Amino acid sequence: MRTADIFKDKTVFSLEIFPPKPDSDESVIYSTLEQLSDICPDFISVTYGAGGGKNGCRTIQIASDIITKYGMNSVAHLPCINLTKAQASNILDCIKANGIENVLALRGDIPQGSEAAGDFRHANELVTFIRENYDFNIIAACYPETHPESTNAADDIDHLKNKVDCGVDHLITQLFLDNSDFYAFRENARLAGINVPIEAGIMPVTNKRQIERMVKLCKVKLPTKFVRILERYGDNPTALRDAGIAYAVDQITDLVAEDIDGIHLYTMNDPYIAHKIYGAVQSLILTVPTIGM
Ligand code: FAD
Repeated sequence: MRTADIFKDKTVFSLEIFPPKPDSDESVIYSTLEQLSDICPDFISVTYGAGGGKNGCRTIQIASDIITKYGMNSVAHLPCINLTKAQASNILDCIKANGIENVLALRGDIPQGSEAAGDFRHANELVTFIRENYDFNIIAACYPETHPESTNAADDIDHLKNKVDCGVDHLITQLFLDNSDFYAFRENARLAGINVPIEAGIMPVTNKRQIERMVKLCKVKLPTKFVRILERYGDNPTALRDAGIAYAVDQITDLVAEDIDGIHLYTMNDPYIAHKIYGAVQSLILTVPTIGM
């Protein structure tokens, strides 16, 4: 099913997983999926390493298995930074042949000190390429705190508007920890004429290493409330995990009350955390009617 159609009927609740590393035990991801299937998410998206290689084949295989083995809807991520158009076509043909209807079209991160090696400079060029040659439902990324490479929020929104106009059906945000950043971003996006559904990407931050990685990679801001949690529970992994879950539940509760289009949970392949969060917000997601669609 095309993800953009799901928003017409409900507040969407979706999950994100990543494929196992090459040479690691593949069966673990299937046990994870088995457990996540109890949540009955509206879709599960599967990340794709910008380096490509074996990891990309696994993305497509897992996204296909989500449909055929577990009866759920799936999205295949596709970063284009290192791809020629011919390579992108091969991958998109494979995604199509596997019955996957939804592609998350991304640029990918450019490794420091190098340049884009393929035919696409930005995600909007991949979106145009897909729109011109295929019939996929196209999803793209957006950034409530602006993309780290952008010099200012207005430029980032202009580029996003351009990307959406190239043929995007639905957006998913980068993780954020302060909902007010999301609300300001959503308002600016709407004012710029971006009218596709915007799902909020929520990452339950449940261990110290993850927080350090997130700040370094995504340049995400840590609100005072969150820093206090770190100070108090940082040396107690179980308490930090539970506090991270509670923080994500608070964020989702507030977002649903503010009529969010959907919640995209970055599961980090951890069914325990995904179940805890879904259990706490399930009734909100199911009962809140979507306004204005
Ligand atoms: P773009 O839309 O190209 O934007 C990147 C920067 O360029 C922004 O600053 C933007 O303002 C600017 N820009 C955009 N268009 C133009 C233009 N035409 N001219 C000049 N400047 C422009 N990475 C992976 O490798 N694999 C994944 O599976 C993956 N999944 C992700 C899922 C989500 C929901 C999100 C939010 C990110 C994901 N990423 C993934 C990370 C993503 O690849 C990086 O954040 C990357 O740096 C930017 O990708 P993008 O598609 O947003 O790029």
